[in-house]
Amino acid sequence: MTSITFDVALAHDPVDRDFVALDVLSAGSGESPDDGAAEREGWALLEATGDLALLTETAGRIRRATESSALLLDYPREYLLRVSVLDIVAAEERQRLAWLLQRCAQDGTVRRDRFRFVCGIRSSRWIDLRITRRLGDDRTELLLTGHDVTDWVENERQLVELSYQDPLTGAGNRAFMRKRIAEFAARGTPGQLFALALMDLDGFKKVNDSLGHEFGDALLKEIGKRLQDALRSRNMVARLGGDEFVLLLEGLDSESEAIRILERVIHVSRQPFHLGGCQVRITTSIGLAFWGSASHPTDAPLTESQWLRRADLAMYEAKALGKNRYCLYSPEFEHRLDEQFRIEQSMFEAVQNGEFLLHYQPIVWPETGEVCATEALMRWEHPQGAIAPDVFIPMAENNGLIKHLGAWALRCACAQLASWDAQGFHVQHMSVNVSPVQFRHPGFLDSVRNAIHDARIAPDRVVLEITESALMTDPAATESLLTELRALGIRFAVDDFGTGYSSLSYLRRFPLSALKIDRSFVSDMMDSPHARTIVSAVMSLSRELGLVAIAEGVESDAQAQLLSAQGCTLVQGWRYAQALPPGEFERSLRAGTLRLGKTDVFPSQGQA
Ligand code: C2E
Ligand code: CA
Ligand code: CA
Repeated sequence: MTSITFDVALAHDPVDRDFVALDVLSAGSGESPDDGAAEREGWALLEATGDLALLTETAGRIRRATESSALLLDYPREYLLRVSVLDIVAAEERQRLAWLLQRCAQDGTVRRDRFRFVCGIRSSRWIDLRITRRLGDDRTELLLTGHDVTDWVENERQLVELSYQDPLTGAGNRAFMRKRIAEFAARGTPGQLFALALMDLDGFKKVNDSLGHEFGDALLKEIGKRLQDALRSRNMVARLGGDEFVLLLEGLDSESEAIRILERVIHVSRQPFHLGGCQVRITTSIGLAFWGSASHPTDAPLTESQWLRRADLAMYEAKALGKNRYCLYSPEFEHRLDEQFRIEQSMFEAVQNGEFLLHYQPIVWPETGEVCATEALMRWEHPQGAIAPDVFIPMAENNGLIKHLGAWALRCACAQLASWDAQGFHVQHMSVNVSPVQFRHPGFLDSVRNAIHDARIAPDRVVLEITESALMTDPAATESLLTELRALGIRFAVDDFGTGYSSLSYLRRFPLSALKIDRSFVSDMMDSPHARTIVSAVMSLSRELGLVAIAEGVESDAQAQLLSAQGCTLVQGWRYAQALPPGEFERSLRAGTLRLGKTDVFPSQGQA
């Protein structure tokens, strides 16, 4: 009875515990009395394991089945004895099992594989099956034994699902996207059209910085949900991290179908979000790249990274074109990227070659047109043509040069104010833009102190322009920094006001002096009642908080009049003057085309 002992010992090992019984069963033919005893022992043993044990003909017809098999599969044993094992595996498994049975019958090699069995009442069970041949004198039989691994398979499936899932939004993750693309590549036949859209939320960083990460997460979750709702089931959403989502569209009839889907996505993303008592609107920029279109047929291979890069380039273009839109990939975008890289490389030399300059745009009293202040705006005179600040400032923020450029701009602007004083041009205030990166840098306070000290100008003539999101990123740190600088006399204006998300309580707490209402509202004001409402709301807010309201980008008399009627204190824009090189600014003053005002716009020193 060694086999029983073995069985007990091996029963803890689910993989091997039926081996002993199997050996007994497959060795004997069941003909001799000894064989009969061994056989019974073997079957008893198999019964004891509680696993599956079937003896079948080579074609699969079941001749013998343990009671435990019947229990496991939820069929009466009598039923099992009337059918083929092929009848009780899932339809899609049938062919594979038939083939394995046949191979095992032919060569006697033990075969192992996992099969899904269709069960009586329970839906199905996964069984790790082992097939052994049993040669008799007149017939060949097969012994099928197996363990139920359903729970394990189910766990595995859940793990795989989880590993393909973005935990925050429940959308797919990057691994999921890769898998899907590989599936496309395997299935892609000529004439099929696939699209990959890379989507990025415009200004999400601003939301995250100003309203906090929890809010940002809630917004991403909601976006994920909206995307999944907006796409039909065969299309897929994956989040690549941050605020980047990938949409995989398949089964498209035409390129225009993909575009219609994207328009819907842009529309649903634009709807306001009501989260934690706040209402926030956000737009998206999407880059789209096809595979299977005339320009890139499916027989031309496209790797996942190439495809993603194309969509990325297209998205970059969508951002550059003003965001809140989609853009279709075009090969020329590749050149533009090289160009960007070239510009970025030449930036380091440009600093040394003195290619950066400051121009000064007058900020005036709307009634008289007299100049109250100037805003220093940076210019890059690249040997191959000027490069716009909207291009090089973000680059400098990325590569860290902004700290040097920003500190330089401060020194240069302060020195300019002193130089105008010396020439008899008393411009009351100098506004200097401060990048969020520069503002958060530990050396910032000193760079401001040094610039003022070296130029020997009164600190209360300097206004630092900072965007809402830079102020709101770390309100406690901001408050102490602003307070320290304000104690020196420095003033602060909130730049591009209305485009970020400010907390009113912070606006009240920070020692601010002015709000600069963003150019976009001014330019839309004449046509859009919505923009007009925002302008008038900012005016009331400034009054309420005791701040000076400054409108940017004033281009027409009509805008100037409307702003003035709404109580805007100062205006700035091409209606009055563009940003001018210092020499030209001085010439305009001498010629009288620009006149300096005498009234100081800010309350006397000591008050914010
Ligand atoms: P900003 O601070 O909002 O500056 C105002 C921008 O509006 C300037 O663009 C100005 O030339 C432009 N502008 C002024 N009046 C009008 C108008 O009537 N119509 C139109 N369409 N535009 C007008 P610019 O000089 O291209 O600067 C763009 C942005 O680059 C600035 O926006 C600012 O954010 C950044 N920037 C410029 N200089 C500096 C700098 O020294 N440091 C930092 N950190 N950022 C800077
Ligand atoms: Ca500004
Ligand atoms: Ca601005």
